[in-house]
Amino acid sequence: MLRLRQNPETTFILKMRGGEPAVDQTTAYRGRFAPSPTGPLHFGSLVAALGSYLDARVAGGEWLVRMEDLDRPREVPGVAAIILHTLEAFGFEWDGQVLRQSSRAEAYAQVIERLRDAGLVFPCACSRREIAARGPPGVDGPVYPGTCRHRLPPGRQARSLRLRTEPGVLLVRDRVQGELHQDLAREVGDFVLRRADGIHAYQLAVVVDDGFQGINQIVRGADLLASTPRQILLLQALRLPVPAYAHLPVVVDATGSKLSKSHAAAPVDPDTPLPTLLQAWRFLGQAPFPEPPANLAEFWTRARSTWNMERVPNQYSKTLSAE
Ligand code: GLU
Repeated sequence: MLRLRQNPETTFILKMRGGEPAVDQTTAYRGRFAPSPTGPLHFGSLVAALGSYLDARVAGGEWLVRMEDLDRPREVPGVAAIILHTLEAFGFEWDGQVLRQSSRAEAYAQVIERLRDAGLVFPCACSRREIAARGPPGVDGPVYPGTCRHRLPPGRQARSLRLRTEPGVLLVRDRVQGELHQDLAREVGDFVLRRADGIHAYQLAVVVDDGFQGINQIVRGADLLASTPRQILLLQALRLPVPAYAHLPVVVDATGSKLSKSHAAAPVDPDTPLPTLLQAWRFLGQAPFPEPPANLAEFWTRARSTWNMERVPNQYSKTLSAE
């Protein structure tokens, strides 16, 4: 089915649905859930956990959990353990050990060296304020205006490291959202790999770790759609295979604001998982159960036999109350 529409929140053009996964289908499915411990699990994260988990399990695949605890200053102490406890209480079962990004700084630094050797990295002296003053609006804040691309301006010190982007449209085939096109150089610009505070950027860490963990299917919230071309560019630069993507609708409240951990959305209650899972199941457009599952075990058995990604609405965002 062909649909053409302009997404108001990004300049992406969404053209078609059900694009072929870009992975080698002979490779076993390996998916993941990658929460950031900036707050306890809320309904939006639960939706991402549920979609990624069921899609992996229905395919007979593996499902890994990675704690994205890169940003120590934003981390709330104790929250990582609460997230894992909540996942367990909801009945999610992950494969292997939880990988913590806080233990991976060496790997990220090595990858930056490789990219630097390939001539793709440059030091940048610009502050956010300077970029905001000079950069035109882009899909994710102001576009980097190229100030330090060729050399640091005289008398300025390097703050961050950036990856060079070149003009040209990158294509993402998304199993839910359809086909997306983004001209990275024009819509994002050269982007940060290591921040001014020394912390490795999410875009870099996620790609390095997805590659390290052999992830070939990514199911996550559509708020990360605009980041996907940056991640594909990095994967290509590192000669890593590009996974298949499925971006699930972002949960918004009745006023249209995103529910997120940082916006203090109510955490899901580990003591009452079943009604919350049923609500997430409905949110993802899945077929109603003929009668409500009596308990958690029954929910998982039935959900694993009926999950269908094709039923997920191809919307960037969806209101919780509109189900
Ligand atoms: N850690 C990110 C978040 O919680 C998700 C990263 C990803 O799924 O790629 O928003």
